Amino acid sequence: MEVTVAKSAGFCFGVKRAVDMVYEEAAKERKVYTLGPIIHNEQVVEEFAEKGVQVLESVEDLEDGEDAVVIIRSHGITKKVFQQLEGKKVRIVDATCPFVKKIHKIVQEKKEQGYQIVIAGSAKHPEVVGICGWCGNQCQVVETLEEAEKCVLETGEKVCVVAQTTFNYKKFKDIVAILSKKSYDILVMNTICNATEERQTEAGTIARKSDAMIVIGGKHSSNTRKLYEICKNECLNTHFIQTLDDLDLKLFQSFRSVGITAGASTPNKIIKEVQSYVRHE
Ligand code: SF4
Repeated sequence: MEVTVAKSAGFCFGVKRAVDMVYEEAAKERKVYTLGPIIHNEQVVEEFAEKGVQVLESVEDLEDGEDAVVIIRSHGITKKVFQQLEGKKVRIVDATCPFVKKIHKIVQEKKEQGYQIVIAGSAKHPEVVGICGWCGNQCQVVETLEEAEKCVLETGEKVCVVAQTTFNYKKFKDIVAILSKKSYDILVMNTICNATEERQTEAGTIARKSDAMIVIGGKHSSNTRKLYEICKNECLNTHFIQTLDDLDLKLFQSFRSVGITAGASTPNKIIKEVQSYVRHE
């Protein structure tokens, strides 16, 4: 059986960096917290829990002056939560992805320069919640073309548009086109990270050529679900699994070619396990 594993499968740069930071801090044998689960992957979170890393639901759960390290995940947090953390006098390890950090800086600076901020993204996503917090929540979040049409911008007002890093590029362009008609002074900052797009394009290409496709990732991971949809569109025999345990190998025995991809929160170890198992069938 021919097995093709996507080169872009698994951790992106920002997630790998955050996970490595947790490993590094956990090895120092002090109390380590992550503010929210570090990634959407139960196995990784469980592995860290075994090493004593605890998940903090909110900064309020921390005691003042606690001798602990708190790691901020790659999605980032609001300025207010960052300041609350500083107030707790704990050691902060900021694993916010540098690409997300850059958006925080843009919205903060442009707000100070008098721009109205528009974020193309999903208002409930933690990354967007964090970005809003760096311009004092004085911004508009636009996710659909209908919302862009309804967005109220005064003619002549300076507007700065940024995007959630995982936002669809075509939709971003369409939203910008709608907003451009409303304002004469629009500054567009394309802050989309191409890691997601590369992964999706490669997954679709492999799925198209394969008899069956395996998509590995956490069940709560939206980027893995999206990958699954893309692959399913190209290859009817597409299977979404979290780990090797979910794989029914009997289903694959009759296939000549199998493709494998994985969401941004899937550790290399799991991808390798699945790959070698399928290969030996
Ligand atoms: S997808 Fe891009 S922006 Fe998001 S964490 Fe990964 S590298 Fe950073």
